[in-house]
Amino acid sequence: MQKLNVISSILSGCTILEPDKWPQGSGEIILTFDDGPSEKTSNQLLDVLYKHRVPAVFCYIGKNIIDYPEIANRALEDGHSIAIHTYSHSLQSLTSSRTLDEETDSFIKIIKSLPCSSNTDLKLFRPPLGLKTPSIRRLVNSRGFDYAYLTFFVNDAYSKPKDAARIIHKIKCKIKEHDGAAIVFHELRYIDGRDRYEIDKSWLPGAVDELIKWAKSEGFVFTTYKNPSKAG
Ligand SMILES: [Zn+2]
Repeated sequence: MQKLNVISSILSGCTILEPDKWPQGSGEIILTFDDGPSEKTSNQLLDVLYKHRVPAVFCYIGKNIIDYPEIANRALEDGHSIAIHTYSHSLQSLTSSRTLDEETDSFIKIIKSLPCSSNTDLKLFRPPLGLKTPSIRRLVNSRGFDYAYLTFFVNDAYSKPKDAARIIHKIKCKIKEHDGAAIVFHELRYIDGRDRYEIDKSWLPGAVDELIKWAKSEGFVFTTYKNPSKAG
């Protein structure tokens, strides 16, 4: 256990893992979705969130918004938050300050072109792979961004339909253990140098539907990072 705590504290320093930070211990849950928008899952996912009146944070990749601007706009129209997850999700976007700066400007420009752009202040940032590299830290500090941090990480990125039940079970256990959490799912898996890596994510909307029903029945409340009195 002690070893686990040490590993966890090391990881919390150089990644966006923040196991001890709000909303852990609060009975609240922040749902986040990485690497979209995706033509295959986003609309069904938005339908599920709308049905339950649950807010979420979409950590979009800029070049995917170019492909599906109507999905990103719908997310804003439905009241969700958008976090910057870089334009390209490339290795270079993690290591080069110049690339990061250019990509951030491109991302903001794309969002500003959407009809519902005024619904977001674009202050949330999620680095690819969750890594706080020196370039990422410089960008976040200089632009006054906040990290879209996570309480724990259950790797759903490569999960296929047959893995859905196992992933959801793990997430439920972790949410109970932490009594609230900021959690991540992946709408797609994006890999540097390749186009969208085709993982069958058709299970995601149904799994999120089940998770929300369970969480509400357990008394958990869904929220976002926009909670200045508690987020700290
Ligand atoms: Zn990502």
